[in-house]
Amino acid sequence: MVVKVDCPTCGRKVPFTAESRWRPFCSERCKSVDLGAWASERYRISGDARDDAASSDEGEAGRYEGSKTQK
Ligand SMILES: [Zn+2]
Repeated sequence: MVVKVDCPTCGRKVPFTAESRWRPFCSERCKSVDLGAWASERYRISGDARDDAASSDEGEAGRYEGSKTQK
């Protein structure tokens, strides 16, 4: 029995075997499309994470470090 996965980009069934070179995507095109979307999504999320970290202790340390080098 061959395990099949849905192509994350177009939803087509892709056999999860060594022959499916672009698994879990059905093709190179679908893979590059998804990577592009993933990269922009990740950029947005990491931006939010940085924002969150700025309000923690690490953010305080960063501000102190900044004022020290300014002098
Ligand atoms: Zn696809």
